[in-house]
Amino acid sequence: MIVERLAAIRQEIRLAAEAAGRDPSGVRLLAVSKTVDADAVRAAYDAGQRDFAENRVPELADKAEALPPECVWHLIGHLQRNKARSALAHAAWVHSVDSAALIERLEAIAAEDGRLPTILLQVNLSGEATKSGVGAAAAPALLRAALACPHLRCRGLMTMAPYAAPEETLRAVFGGLRRLRDRLQDDTGAALPELSMGMSGDFRIAIAEGATVVRIGTAVFGPRA
Ligand SMILES: *Cc1c(COP(=O)(O)O)cnc(C)c1O
Repeated sequence: MIVERLAAIRQEIRLAAEAAGRDPSGVRLLAVSKTVDADAVRAAYDAGQRDFAENRVPELADKAEALPPECVWHLIGHLQRNKARSALAHAAWVHSVDSAALIERLEAIAAEDGRLPTILLQVNLSGEATKSGVGAAAAPALLRAALACPHLRCRGLMTMAPYAAPEETLRAVFGGLRRLRDRLQDDTGAALPELSMGMSGDFRIAIAEGATVVRIGTAVFGPRA
């Protein structure tokens, strides 16, 4: 099942990229394995999947230790500062960076432990109070804080769209993240190539709006228990 679902999603990613006039190799598929057992993750690994994402640090640590070291792990959930060291021990990417205090902590740990994690700044463009991330107005200061850190590779932005929203809302959120990224690049001269946006229900629209990373759980592993 997982093998077939992965193949179908890769095909859909390819079609969505081509429809947008984009090179499909510019869209990275993250298999979101939160709540999924290690055997299912292994099945995805055996089908060639290498990028996996978790939203909680203890579960990330358990699965990263159970799976082969070729896997690339991504943390996509809110990160508390006291879990930052364990997060960086396992995740090559942190998508959910949303405060200057967290940036400071990640930089200190990365320097101590000799790591160069990739980080993305999480932005909340939907205004939903339930979603974490900074508002667009706070993004420039957060970016400047990240760019000042020699051990953090700040490579772009991440967002979550409202669940099951109409297409025009999704386009506004995803297009808004892309335009914010463009402005931040112009203002700072930094390279911010990555846009982590799009989940099982909305990744086609996210790709049309420029997503370079799509985070897909349910459509790969089936509904979560
Ligand atoms: C769970 C989760 C996803 C994947 O959601 P699906 O709808 O199962 O594809 C993507 N991003 C984040 C931040 C998540 O927490």
